[in-house]
Amino acid sequence: MKLARIAERRGIPASPGIAIGPAFVLRRERLVIPEYRISADQVNAEVKRLERAFRDTRERLEAIREGMKDTGLVADIFDAQFLFLKDPTLLEHASRNIRSECLNAEWALQLELRRLEMLFESMSDAYIRERSSDVAFVVRRVLQCLMGREPEGLRNAPIGVIVVAEDLSTAELAQLTKGHVLAVVTEGGSRTSHVTIVARSLEIPAVVGLPDLVQSIADGTTLIVDGHAGCLIDDAEDATIAEFEKRRLYIEALDRQLLRYADLPAETRDGVRIRTLANVEQPLEIPHALEYGAEGIGLYRTEFLFMNRVDLPDEDEQVDAYMEILGAVAPYSAVIRTLDLGGDKLPIGIRGGDEPNPALGLRGVRMSMSRPAIFRVQLRALLRASVAGNLKILLPMVASSSEVDFARQVLSEVREDLERAGEPVASRVELGIMVETPAAALIADILAPRVDFISIGTNDLLQYTLAVDRGNEHVSYLYEPLHPANLRLIRSVCQAGRRAGIEVGMCGEMAGDPLHCWILTALGVGQLSMAPFSIPLLKKILRETSLSEARVLLEEVLRLPSAAEIRAHVEEHMLRRFPAEFEGMLPSR
Ligand code: PEP
Ligand code: MG
Repeated sequence: MKLARIAERRGIPASPGIAIGPAFVLRRERLVIPEYRISADQVNAEVKRLERAFRDTRERLEAIREGMKDTGLVADIFDAQFLFLKDPTLLEHASRNIRSECLNAEWALQLELRRLEMLFESMSDAYIRERSSDVAFVVRRVLQCLMGREPEGLRNAPIGVIVVAEDLSTAELAQLTKGHVLAVVTEGGSRTSHVTIVARSLEIPAVVGLPDLVQSIADGTTLIVDGHAGCLIDDAEDATIAEFEKRRLYIEALDRQLLRYADLPAETRDGVRIRTLANVEQPLEIPHALEYGAEGIGLYRTEFLFMNRVDLPDEDEQVDAYMEILGAVAPYSAVIRTLDLGGDKLPIGIRGGDEPNPALGLRGVRMSMSRPAIFRVQLRALLRASVAGNLKILLPMVASSSEVDFARQVLSEVREDLERAGEPVASRVELGIMVETPAAALIADILAPRVDFISIGTNDLLQYTLAVDRGNEHVSYLYEPLHPANLRLIRSVCQAGRRAGIEVGMCGEMAGDPLHCWILTALGVGQLSMAPFSIPLLKKILRETSLSEARVLLEEVLRLPSAAEIRAHVEEHMLRRFPAEFEGMLPSR
C-alpha cells in the first residue's frame, strides 16, 4: 500500500498502534496568581489556609490514586508527586514566605516554586528536570485549590478522542483508559518518560516529542496518530484517512492472528532456535508477557524500584520484589539488572552531584562502584531472592574489565557472607553484562570470558556510537539501528561471545523491531528481549525464515556504505518476503 504524500509531523514512536479521531487539546489555563500583602495579624490564618489547601490537594489526589489502584504503574508514578506534597519542606518554605514577608498564600507558594524551578534547571539532568515538572504540577494543584479553580483534566474528554497536550501529569495519566482515549500525542516526552511507559502498558498508541502541538491544533480536528512510525497527521484528506483506517483494521486483525504464534517456539526453518524474552518494568506485566509468548524476562530494570521515593528500598523490600518477579516467571529465567542509576535516571534519595554531562557521568556500574554499600545490599537481596526461581544478574554500562572484576568480587563476597549466615542461595546465579558502550563492544573478546552471558543494549550503544542523544528529538532522525557502525559492533560482540562459548542476546529496542530480526539472527544474536506485544510477530517471521537466507541478506547489507541504503535494502527485502506483515507498517514507505 503506497500512501499519498501527506503533511506529517515526526516525533518519537512511544506506543504502537494507529488511531484516527478528533483532537482533544488540553490547554492549560494561565493562572494569574494574585500578589498582595497581608497584615501581621492575618499571618496565622493565611498559613492555615495554605495548610488546608495542601491537605485538600492531597486528599483529592489520593482519591484519584485510589481509583487507579489496579494500574500499579500509574500509582507508582503518583508517588513522586505525593513526595512533594507530603515532604514538609515545600509547605514550610512557603509558610516562611508568608510569615517573613506578610505575603498572601498564593504568592508565597509561587515564589517557592520559582526558587525550586531555578534550582532544578541548574542541574541539567533529564530525570531531575522531570521532577521539576512534578513540583510544578503539585504547586499548580495547590494554587487552583487556593483560588477555588477546578483543575483541568481528561475527565471531561468525550469518549473516542486523541489527547493533545504539552505533557500529561500523573493525575491525567491516571485518567487514561483504553477505549476512552484513542491515542495520545505530546510535545514533551522521550522513549522512557512517564507518558510513554503508561501508554505502552495500557496499549494506547502514542507519539511524543512533537513540538508546538497545542498552539497549532484546534479542538476537534481529525488527527491520525501512527505510533509505529512515530508520526502525526492533522487535517488529512479523506483519501488519507481512508488509507490509514484500512491500515489500522489490518494491523488489528494481524495482531489477533499473530497471537496463534505466542505459544510456538521462535525457530527458523533450518532449526536455529532464538529465545524471545520480555522487557518488563513491573511484576504486574509478567502474566501479560507470558500470554504473548515470552520465554522469560530478558530485562528487568531495577531502577524503577528506586525512583519516585526519598528513601532507598531496604534489603528485605528488594528481596520481596525480586522474589515476586522470579516466582511469576518461573520456570523461565529472569534477567534482573543491577541499578542503572544516573544519566536520565536519578532517584530522589540519591544525589549524584551536579554533572555537566550525566549520560557520560556516574551512571550504571560506575555509580555502583562509587556507592558500594548500595550495590552490596542489592546483590545480597538478589542472591537471597535467587531461591525463588532462575535468576541471572546483569550489569549495566560496563566499559572496562575492572568493572566486571569488581562486581564479581563483591558478588562472591556477598555470597560467602550469606552462606556463612546460613541463608539459602541458589547454587548457580549467572552474571552477565550489558554491552551498551562502544568500549565494551570493542573489548568484547576481553569481557566475554569473564561473564556468563552478554546482553546488547542498543538504546545506549547507538547513542554513544553515533553521538546521538537518545532523548533529543532534534537528532532523532540520526538514531539508526541499521547504521553500519552499529552492525559491525554487534557482529564483533557476537563473535566474541561465540569464541567464549557464551550466549549473546539483545535487550535494546532494536531487538523488538521485526524489520531487524533477520539481520540480528544472521549476526548471531541468540536471544531477543522486547516489549511483550512484539513477540508473536517476531516468532512468526523467524519461523518462516531460514538462517541461510538471512545470512545472504546480511552479507549484502554489510557491503552497503550508509545507514539509509541499508535501511532501504532491508525494508525492500522484508516487504517482499513478508508483504502481509510489513505492508503499510514501514514508516519510510
Ligand atoms: C539499552 O541501553 O539498550 C537498555 C536496554 O537499557 P536502558 O534503555 O534502560 O538504558
Ligand atoms: Mg542502557
